[in-house]
Amino acid sequence: MDLEKARATLFAQLGSVKGSEHIPLTQALGRVTAEPIYAQLSLPPFPASAMDGYAVRRKDFDEAKPLRLIGQSLAGHPYPGTVTAGDCVRIFTGAVVPDGADLIILQERLAASAVSNDGTEVIHFAEHEPDEAFIRPIGNDIEQGQIICPAGELLTPLLLGSLASAGVSMIHVVRKVRVGVFSSGDELRDPGTPPEELALGQIYDSNAFTVANLLQRLPVELIPLQRLADDEQAVATALADAADSCDLLITSGGVSVGDADFIGATIARLGHLAFWKLNLKPGKPLAFGRIGQCWIFGLPGNPVSTIVTFLLLVKPSLQLLCGGRPPPLLRVNAKLATQVLHTPGRAEYQRGIYREDDNGELRVAHTGDQGSNRLSTFSGANCLIEIPKTTGSLPKDSVVSILPLSDLLA
Ligand code: AMP
Ligand code: MG
Repeated sequence: MDLEKARATLFAQLGSVKGSEHIPLTQALGRVTAEPIYAQLSLPPFPASAMDGYAVRRKDFDEAKPLRLIGQSLAGHPYPGTVTAGDCVRIFTGAVVPDGADLIILQERLAASAVSNDGTEVIHFAEHEPDEAFIRPIGNDIEQGQIICPAGELLTPLLLGSLASAGVSMIHVVRKVRVGVFSSGDELRDPGTPPEELALGQIYDSNAFTVANLLQRLPVELIPLQRLADDEQAVATALADAADSCDLLITSGGVSVGDADFIGATIARLGHLAFWKLNLKPGKPLAFGRIGQCWIFGLPGNPVSTIVTFLLLVKPSLQLLCGGRPPPLLRVNAKLATQVLHTPGRAEYQRGIYREDDNGELRVAHTGDQGSNRLSTFSGANCLIEIPKTTGSLPKDSVVSILPLSDLLA
């Protein structure tokens, strides 16, 4: 199965988890709205000046005649009276336009000001044709009662600002998705174990750590689980148990067809395997299915494969489970700064570094030997280079699609 087909299969099957929480807006970043949100008040809530100037009555404004300055209106300090014929009020951006006024004369139009005999200040304006009123009417941005945000919307800093401005303080969001993360393999030890305590053949379990970090920005409740031993019965018991209390399980390792690989067959035996094996490099042995009500991804164990498949398949799936919509993969054209070796058959995602050259063109180089065990291929990388399955090796200067990591990790 090709990546696009696998993604389409996931998107067709997965949907938001059921259940919501009522939480303060201050805790809602990254969550997804469970209900439409209505504006509690209009914005602006009063007619507001869009500029610094003088509030006047258009009807009797005549540049030839000076106006009496009767007061001022600052943001947060409205002028309490009414503007009548021959009056003007000094006004600033965001301040309430006083009753009676319907036009702001920009302060740049001031020609002179003088104090008359009775002590009142009078303003002379330069001759000009008043154009706009420079007044923001009530509800010019948002109207009270209007839906400012539909259900199923990811709450970004931008959207949260708009909700705060419209008087929203508590919000119904989709509950967190419960995600259980397993590593599997008898060779694995906890990171932090002193290197001299590793027996021959043992390595650190980096995948559980990586996956936990990749989940950080998503609205999930991470449930770290005991590592799976390379034992068929132990794998079955642990998966069945975890499936009872999680919405999604992510395992890594043990999903190929070696003698110690039990994940794929166990999903098939305990539940339903939707697909197993992808036309993808790295990431070929990936399995996806469900056990009871719980979805499960069996990710390959090689750390690069775990990361690439997480980014391309697990993350968008989680965005759906969390109640949102995964954005399309962002692809950008770039010219190869190095040749790329590839055998036609599987689509490949190599780790690359792109930068702008002196002509403003994007140039991309791979990060060396692309072995899927080599986490070091990610060091310095800022994109994945996409090599379609039908393509062979590509010479320097070929145009390729790159997937910026800034987007995949966002
Ligand atoms: P497997 O599919 O279980 O044979 O794993 C493939 C390769 O990935 C082996 O070299 C494993 O040692 C390695 N591997 C599996 N799981 C992890 C993990 N959690 N952290 C680091 N390497 C792993
Ligand atoms: Mg293994």
